[in-house]
Amino acid sequence: MHDVVIVGAGPVGLSLACELGLAGCSVLVLEREAEPGSPGKTAPLGMRGLSAASVEAFYRRGLLDPLLTASGAQNGFFGAQPPADEPPRPRFGGHFAGMMLDGSEIDMADFPYRLPSPAFRSVMTHLDAVETVLARQAAKLGVEIRRGVAVTAVTQGDETVAAHAGPDAYEARWLVGCDGGRSTVRRLAGFEFVGTEPQFTGYTMHATIDGLEQLRPGFNLTPTGMYVRMPNAGTIGIMDFDGGAFDRSRPPTREHLQAVLRRVSGTEVTLSEVHIASSFTDRAMQTTAYRQGCVLLAGDAAHIHSPLGGQGLNTGLGDAVNLGWKLAATVRGHAPEGLLDTYADERRPIGAAVLDWSRAQVAVMKPGPHAHAVQAVVRDLIGTRDGTTYVFERISGSWIRYDLGDGHPLVGRSAPEFRLDDGTRLADLMEDGRGVALDFSTDRRLHASAMRWDGRIRYAAGTAAQDLGLGAVLVRPDGVVAWAGGDSPDPEGFERAARRWFGAPAS
Ligand SMILES: Cc1cc2nc3c(=O)[nH]c(=O)nc-3n(C[C@H](O)[C@H](O)[C@H](O)COP(=O)(O)OP(=O)(O)OC[C@H]3O[C@@H](n4cnc5c(N)ncnc54)[C@H](O)[C@@H]3O)c2cc1C
Repeated sequence: MHDVVIVGAGPVGLSLACELGLAGCSVLVLEREAEPGSPGKTAPLGMRGLSAASVEAFYRRGLLDPLLTASGAQNGFFGAQPPADEPPRPRFGGHFAGMMLDGSEIDMADFPYRLPSPAFRSVMTHLDAVETVLARQAAKLGVEIRRGVAVTAVTQGDETVAAHAGPDAYEARWLVGCDGGRSTVRRLAGFEFVGTEPQFTGYTMHATIDGLEQLRPGFNLTPTGMYVRMPNAGTIGIMDFDGGAFDRSRPPTREHLQAVLRRVSGTEVTLSEVHIASSFTDRAMQTTAYRQGCVLLAGDAAHIHSPLGGQGLNTGLGDAVNLGWKLAATVRGHAPEGLLDTYADERRPIGAAVLDWSRAQVAVMKPGPHAHAVQAVVRDLIGTRDGTTYVFERISGSWIRYDLGDGHPLVGRSAPEFRLDDGTRLADLMEDGRGVALDFSTDRRLHASAMRWDGRIRYAAGTAAQDLGLGAVLVRPDGVVAWAGGDSPDPEGFERAARRWFGAPAS
């Protein structure tokens, strides 16, 4: 029997497997597809934008360089990073409903605790690269991945759960459904999935197009929807406000795609050959719970929405990193009371906000005079420094702050990339997935306390290379600040936070 069975070796399932493997859990991943990789997962259709929050998660586990190598990525919203001691340099900030942001307008004063980091950027990658890097890491950590196993039934006992595939049963103490938007686990375990029905059908395709020059590069809002001409010649996205009427059980034909593209773009382009195409909608749904007994959900299995603004993968990776250490502590028996429940408490509101972010974009893109009027207002607002900064925060994931109660403004947020004067960076201390206590005080006030959680919390002391006015911080394994102390940090405050997130001390 394994500690955890994960259903689905997509990016979210694999990311969760790595987090659990890092914490020493025995993990089995069951994946329906016999082979990793497929044409839809590589460029151009498999291209995905990772937000700064996701890039940070890779960086903190030592996986950013492998990811960049696998992606062939030389890009990022903020471009190549300047030398470590200069402030980060934003360059490009993405879009809202096709309205482009001017990255040079982002007000960096809104990020007073941001420290220079190679991870303060976005990365344009593809699903194949993400999955390859994570599968390699999972294998290194002893995770078993069985491919060609489609789960068709889930049964729960008092303390165990089993995934069934044909005559085979795979038993574990916990099961996590990371099996995507049409999740079988979600249905089998009886999760309620609620939300809004689609307004449009979307298509992405790579095609040979006669009259390509008629299509304007970039995002183009039109009276009937939107089309996007991507930098790779012949890669096109279309959003057709048909109420989601297209029957997605079959692949879109060349004739259908041509008719839709002509209608939405108002051109007479001809698709002489469609090399690959897929469809999606803006159906926006979320489960009302993320856990039923020993079964949990993460990623698209728990929330789906349109790909506008590229948030699905980022939200799913955020789920995995949030859940991993909490489930591992539960498996290993040192989780404080209620720790696992904080997964849904923290992540469901994020998922709900992402669904609304995608609905808001759909609302301003909708054909018709009312949406067009709102579009003009939003365009003006986005054109302001505050508007640009607001949208940038949403796209980059910088807005995410879990409600961990009152405290320093950093509490509940992703930790800045603290650096000690000996050159040690926070990320160096996080690779093995433990919590980190950073003590900047001259009298090492937290040393004795922190050592009581040795094995769960790594203690490091030194002078902070940049003074953010902090005497110490406690960072959770997912990189979130759990506690921050002032100039003369109070060991009692630290101990309360350590007990809350890491359980009773070993000594
Ligand atoms: C056109 C488009 C563009 C997008 N762009 C972005 C972007 O730029 N940024 C972003 O953040 N997101 C983007 N997304 C969303 C993103 O692709 C998804 O949110 C993400 O892939 C979900 O990952 P997942 O691991 O949860 O699910 P999936 O990637 O769907 O993986 C689920 C896995 O489970 C397996 N599986 C399913 N059923 C079973 C079963 N019964 N038994 C065993 N295995 C099973 C599947 O084979 C699959 O491998 C985009 C989506 C689309 C459609």
